[in-house]
Amino acid sequence: ADSAAQAVKRGGGNGFAFFEAHMQDGVRDQLELARDLRAALEDGGAGLALHYQPKVAGDTARVLGVEALLRWQHPRRGAIGPNHFIPVAERFGIIVPLGGWVIDEACRQIAEWRDQGLRLRVAINLSVQQLRQPEALLQRLQQALQRHHLDASQLSCEITESVAMEDAGATERVLQRLGELGVALSIDDFGTGYSSLAYLRRLPVSQLKIDRSFIQDLETSADARAIVRAVIELAHALGLEVVAEGVETEGQAAVLRAKRCDKLQGYLFARPMPADALAEWAMRPHDPEGRLDFSDSVLA
Ligand code: C2E
Ligand code: MG
Ligand code: MG
Ligand code: MG
Repeated sequence: ADSAAQAVKRGGGNGFAFFEAHMQDGVRDQLELARDLRAALEDGGAGLALHYQPKVAGDTARVLGVEALLRWQHPRRGAIGPNHFIPVAERFGIIVPLGGWVIDEACRQIAEWRDQGLRLRVAINLSVQQLRQPEALLQRLQQALQRHHLDASQLSCEITESVAMEDAGATERVLQRLGELGVALSIDDFGTGYSSLAYLRRLPVSQLKIDRSFIQDLETSADARAIVRAVIELAHALGLEVVAEGVETEGQAAVLRAKRCDKLQGYLFARPMPADALAEWAMRPHDPEGRLDFSDSVLA
């Protein structure tokens, strides 16, 4: 696998073709995706796009921000999901430039929305390898924010709980520096890892996102309800804001509101959507039921 990765890093050529002939299908598939991803990045991100999913307030359903989720329209295979291509990018050393493209694109979009009179905070997802190269990450973030005259508080970063626990000392240092830059931090997929609260308390994190697996079971499992209640109470005691991810039913939303969950995200409110669709959606004062209110996010 390592030599395969090396072949891709060298950029293909005859060595690549030679390798390819000897690969198992799965590995060949990954090599091809890695090569095509590189080509997409060299072509300025052709075929790549960010889609945006709202995070709405638990109590009033105001839209308070969006999460940027990467999409890839492959030239021959069509749409490929991030759960498929992000691991490939991580394995073949492409995640840092790919994550750089995400930073640039998110900042460009925040500025475009600002110019349309729409103010939304955008959260991007970070990979562990981006955190392992803190200088490159901080520089890319700073440059993108400056280029578009953005305040760092308009951007936030999501890091999964398992990433936050890896190499705790180094992670703590890089998160401190991101925090100093003014970028808000959230712990994603919370509840799936094994983080100690003593450690979480030391991080400059302002938000916990409860993993979708707990939200899914809220209506049927007393255990899931007990866990979610405990996480919300604990997070609030530590001064953290809580987001529930993957909310799909009114029943789940009702349980979460009763437990004072700060923000909700999920298909019940909106799927991730392209930037222009999100803006159109957000510019409408209310949805057909009049439930969603954007008055705080739209600048008059
Ligand atoms: P995540 O950050 O935990 O994002 C939430 C995922 O759940 C997204 O899947 C989203 O589309 C999906 N989702 C949202 N609401 C619902 C719901 O109500 N029901 C269900 N069933 N799913 C819901 P997506 O877009 O396929 O992304 C998957 C993962 O890929 C993300 O999980 C994140 O870890 C990773 N990812 C996406 N974009 C990026 C990126 O730009 N950089 C990095 N490093 N990772 C990314
Ligand atoms: Mg996320
Ligand atoms: Mg998540
Ligand atoms: Mg998740």
